Amino acid sequence: MLPETSLPLLRKRDVIMELEQQLRYRAWAEIDMSALAHNVRTVQTILPPQTQYMAVVKANAYGHGDEAICHKLWELGVRWFAVSNLEEALTVRQLCPYSEIFILGYTPPEFAPELARNNIIQGVVSQGYAQQLQRFAQQPVRCHIKLDTGMGRVGFPGKSPEACTDALMQLFELERLSIEGIYTHFAVADSPDAEDIAYTQMQEDRIIRVYDLLAQRGHKLRHLHFMNSAATVTRPNPRATLARVGIIMYGLYPNYPVEIPVEIQPVMSLRSVVSHVKTVEAGDCISYGRTYTAKETRTIATVTIGYADGYSRLLSNQASALVHGTACPIVGRVCMDQLMLDVTEVPETVRSGDVVTLFGSDGGQTITADQLAAMIGTIGYEIVCGITKRIPRMVLE
Ligand SMILES: *Cc1c(COP(=O)(O)O)cnc(C)c1O
Repeated sequence: MLPETSLPLLRKRDVIMELEQQLRYRAWAEIDMSALAHNVRTVQTILPPQTQYMAVVKANAYGHGDEAICHKLWELGVRWFAVSNLEEALTVRQLCPYSEIFILGYTPPEFAPELARNNIIQGVVSQGYAQQLQRFAQQPVRCHIKLDTGMGRVGFPGKSPEACTDALMQLFELERLSIEGIYTHFAVADSPDAEDIAYTQMQEDRIIRVYDLLAQRGHKLRHLHFMNSAATVTRPNPRATLARVGIIMYGLYPNYPVEIPVEIQPVMSLRSVVSHVKTVEAGDCISYGRTYTAKETRTIATVTIGYADGYSRLLSNQASALVHGTACPIVGRVCMDQLMLDVTEVPETVRSGDVVTLFGSDGGQTITADQLAAMIGTIGYEIVCGITKRIPRMVLE
């Protein structure tokens, strides 16, 4: 038996609360709500008056944390939210009970009653899926019909607007589908190439043509949407009733480094701390695989973040991180929970506990998720979505 004087065991929750109070995590993501507000307002100023803002908050708001992001968006006046699946839709329904929620992705048709009960709008990609929804629905399910006008992923074939309209006419006979809109998705709206611009124009012409043909045949739908972030800022079209804005809202570029005509601010920063500092001599090796060998005396700091946090191992010997506002190269391989930086050039003495910025700003220097993505052949979207659950999201108002 434990003596009565023994201290109670510190529970995990207590440790976390203590860390939170002192803002002492070993690694965390900062979510800057003023940057989010800036980006939303910037996009809202270029939206045609008849086009409503639909915030794309799929995948935990692109990794930023859907709870804080949805609450802030609601506060900013956003009323439409797009998600990728039913689970995400139900989360947003709880966070923003009076919002309009649109599911871009697949919902097993067995869940049709769940969609209706929670007033969620489902994207319908084919005749077969429409029939399955009708079969499982008990009351009308709100739907927007997806056209494939050139993305080649899902949707009713939209190559011939006349044939497409004929196919869609049959949907209006399904009495348990409440069809409120049609939409499509662009494949190359983020590209500045003339050929790609023409391709996007063709996609846009197709969906608008189908919309107008349906109206001529007695089905004037309430909603028509096709713009993603890139199209919203480069070619806002007043025919659209909704703009599906994702990446730009989070302050990243649709196609870095292609410039966009609006100024945006990154919402997420990723930070960690130094756990250990040492001096290495010429010939000393760093990390798995011995991919880095010091050529001379260097100061090396170990940082408590790794690929299990979503900081890609592909960044080994490639990226830099900021310490006291100085960019320090990663030396050797990124490990699961740790990585090493060469901090020799930092003017200040680097100590255990010092903050390291993997992306974000520090002392006037900035590293963006887009820049890290470009180094390893991916996009900023994948960097922020890939930050794992192990990283607490700290909201900065
Ligand atoms: C994810 C997604 C968007 C948002 O795209 P961004 O480039 O992030 O603006 C819009 N529409 C659909 C169908 C999507 O899947």
